[in-house]
Amino acid sequence: MSCLFCKIIEGTIPSSAVYQDEHCYAFADIHPQAPVHVLVAPRRHLASLAHSDEADRALLGHLLWAAAQIAAQKGLAKGYRVAINTGEDGGQTVDHLHVHLLGGRPLAWPPG
Ligand code: AMP
Ligand code: ZN
Repeated sequence: MSCLFCKIIEGTIPSSAVYQDEHCYAFADIHPQAPVHVLVAPRRHLASLAHSDEADRALLGHLLWAAAQIAAQKGLAKGYRVAINTGEDGGQTVDHLHVHLLGGRPLAWPPG
């Protein structure tokens, strides 16, 4: 298995865990873009949002639910952003689906 995030999830590459359950693993981004920058990834390898199918609907909802739980636990009462970079134009650099949770500062819009 050559996938970086699969290795993080299985523990062969270290990470700073933030939250985990049977479906997902959340960990601190190694290059944080905000005071809170957490990645929420499904335990099962799924290359991107574009690779999801009907059977993944509950899993996709679970990832957003987990992000909201983490945001609350991190005290992001003023708000936050979740983002799923998808594919080349979407800026995805790791081909294992992950939700970015960003918060702790005002976030500009639109993105670059
Ligand atoms: P994306 O560009 O949306 O695919 O996001 C990939 C994210 O993974 C980037 O924000 C990277 O900083 C982050 N990242 C890459 N390697 C690691 C790592 N070993 N541990 C934690 N985060 C990582
Ligand atoms: Zn993977």
